[in-house]
Amino acid sequence: MIVDSIKNRLFLYLGLFSLTDSVLEERYISWQKSYKYKQIFAASILTAILYIMAYIIEFNIVHTDALGMMKIFHLYIIPPSLLFIAYLAYKNYFYTFVNTLLLLAPLVAYFGNIVITKSLENPTVYFSEIYLIIIWTFTVSGLLLKYATISATLTYIMAIISGLYFFDLTLEAYIMHVFWSTAAYMFGFLSAYLLEMSSQTLFLKEEELSKMAKTDKLTGLFNRSKLDEVLANELNRTQRSQSTFGLVMLDIDYFKLVNDTYGHQVGDEVLIGIAKILKENIRSTDMLARWGGEEFILIYLNNDKEKLLHLVEELRQKIEAHTFEKVGQTTVSFGVTLYQSDDTVHSILKRADSALYLAKEYGRNRIEFV
Ligand code: GH3
Ligand code: MG
Ligand code: MG
Repeated sequence: MIVDSIKNRLFLYLGLFSLTDSVLEERYISWQKSYKYKQIFAASILTAILYIMAYIIEFNIVHTDALGMMKIFHLYIIPPSLLFIAYLAYKNYFYTFVNTLLLLAPLVAYFGNIVITKSLENPTVYFSEIYLIIIWTFTVSGLLLKYATISATLTYIMAIISGLYFFDLTLEAYIMHVFWSTAAYMFGFLSAYLLEMSSQTLFLKEEELSKMAKTDKLTGLFNRSKLDEVLANELNRTQRSQSTFGLVMLDIDYFKLVNDTYGHQVGDEVLIGIAKILKENIRSTDMLARWGGEEFILIYLNNDKEKLLHLVEELRQKIEAHTFEKVGQTTVSFGVTLYQSDDTVHSILKRADSALYLAKEYGRNRIEFV
C-alpha cells in the first residue's frame, strides 16, 4: 500500500500520471520493448567501440602505471560487458535482466574512472567521462526513465563524493566539477523526461486509435470489422477445441418508422438504448457488436440450442418491456444459429441472416432458428 502510494506520487512527480494504472503501464512497457531492444543494441555496440577507441588512444599517449587499469576497464571489462548486453538485446532476451545490467554499466564505468584517474597527476582530464556517463545513462542507454534516474543519480552522487575524497582537487576544480556534473544531470534528466513523455503520448494515441478502429461511435459496441476478426478467431478456436457457440443476428422492427415519425436523433437514442439493454444482459464472455445500421450480432460461447433460445427469449422480453422516451415500445426480431463444423464467417452469418429473415416474415418480435 505505502509502496504503491509512494510509487504513484513519484510517477506523478515524473509526469507519468497517465500511466499510474499498472495494467496500462505493463502494456506500455511491452509496447516499447521492441524499439528499446533496438536502442539498447545500437547504444551498447557504439559505446563498446568508443571505449576500445579510447583505449587505443590511451595506449599511444599514456605512459604511466594508469595504463594497466585503463586496459582492464576500457578493454577487458567494459566493451565485453556492453557487447554481451548488445547480444541479449539483439536476441530480445531477458528484458528485466538487460535493464539491470544496463543500470549497473554506468556505475562500473564510473568506478573504473575513479580507479584510473586516482593515480593520474591531472585527473580532471578524465572527468569529461563522468559527465558523458550521466548524459549517456539518461538519453542514449535505452533504459526506462526510472532505471535511468536511479543509475544516473547514483553516478552523480559518486561524482560529488569522489571529487571530494578521492582526488586532490583545487577548490576551483572541485566547484567546477560539481557544476558540470549537475549540468549534465539536469540536461540528461530533461531530455530523458521529454523522450519518455513523447513516447507515452505516442503509446496512448495508438491505444486510442486501435480502440476507435474497433468501436462503433454511436453505441460504444464493437464494430463490424472487429466482429469479423473475433468471429474468425472464434471459428478457428472452435474447430480446434470441438466446442460450439451460438450466433444471433438482431434487427429492430419497423425502425424506419421511428426515424420518419420522431426524427433521426430519436432513432439514435433508441439504438443506444437497445445497445445498453443488450450489453446489460449478456455475460462478459459473450460478444456483442453493431453489425449495421440497426442490426446487432451476438456471439454466445458454449451453449446448446435450448439454453441459447432461452437466453435470447429473455432478451426479446426485456426489450419488449422497455419504454423508450417519446417512442414508447419497440421490438426486435432475432435470427439464431449454432456453429456447425466447417462453418466459415460467411456461412454462419448467412444462416443467421436467413433465420432473421424468417422472423421478419412470420410477423417480427420473434425468434427463429436455422
Ligand atoms: P424491418 O422491421 O423490416 O426491419 O423494418 P425497418 O424499417 O427496421 O427496416 P429497414 O432495414 O428497411 O430500415 C432500417 C432503417 O434504419 C433505415 C435507416 O434509416 C435506419 N438507420 C440505419 N442506421 C441508423 C442510425 O445510425 N441512426 C438512425 N437513427 N437510423 C438508422
Ligand atoms: Mg435492417
Ligand atoms: Mg429493421
